[in-house]
Amino acid sequence: MRIDIITLFPEMFEPIISESIIGRAQKSGAIEIACHQLRYFAFDKHKRVDDTPYGGGMGMLMKAEPIALCFEDICRQTKVKPHFIYMSPQGKTLTQQRLKELAEIDNICILCGHYEGVDQRLLDAFVDEEISIGDYVLTGGELPAMVLTDALARMVPGVLTNNECFTEESHFNGLLEYPQYTKPSSWRGMDVPEVLLSGHHANIAKWRKEKSIENTLKKRPEMLKKYKDQQE
Ligand code: SAM
Repeated sequence: MRIDIITLFPEMFEPIISESIIGRAQKSGAIEIACHQLRYFAFDKHKRVDDTPYGGGMGMLMKAEPIALCFEDICRQTKVKPHFIYMSPQGKTLTQQRLKELAEIDNICILCGHYEGVDQRLLDAFVDEEISIGDYVLTGGELPAMVLTDALARMVPGVLTNNECFTEESHFNGLLEYPQYTKPSSWRGMDVPEVLLSGHHANIAKWRKEKSIENTLKKRPEMLKKYKDQQE
């Protein structure tokens, strides 16, 4: 998978995309992440990427043309038109289900907004989908784009090792994960559940499923209801 990110702050991505699991995945070639400085595509005489909104009002808006030029340049590089996502508090809230679908796409381009957002004509003409990371407003789309990139990258085959497999994690199958424990088996008077020390795989799997359901009921009852409805 290749992810292209259009941003005014490409340096913000560096620590995230070069470290840990994502950094390793880039080195192995499982994913490729390219950040594009939008300012390089501001070719009008003032080299501006933003301007005041028509009709008045506070703040500045990102201009359409630099974004269009940057996206077209990415299309030339990738030789395909990537699925173009605008990170926006007005988009559909990101879910693990949507991530599963997006992880099937080979080329994704993410636009990070800033200021008051983006000229609507660019969104209408170019953007395939708006995605939000929650019902609150951040100053820019960089953190949301990092969230999307990280969540997507870990679902690409070859990025996680078997030990880090995502299919048992919270949300993947509609439930929250079961409780987990590491060494020592006894800590400050609290013991790891006996079954996890038994080495009996079937019993461990049964315990984990039960705890996963219990955990979901306790923390996210509406999720458990949806899960049960889907099982019927
Ligand atoms: N004026 C816009 C509105 O009311 O919908 C909000 C603009 S916000 C201050 C600036 C940028 O941050 C947006 O263009 C978007 O890219 C990003 N952003 C802010 N909150 C976000 C969220 N919850 N999810 C995804 N992106 C967000």
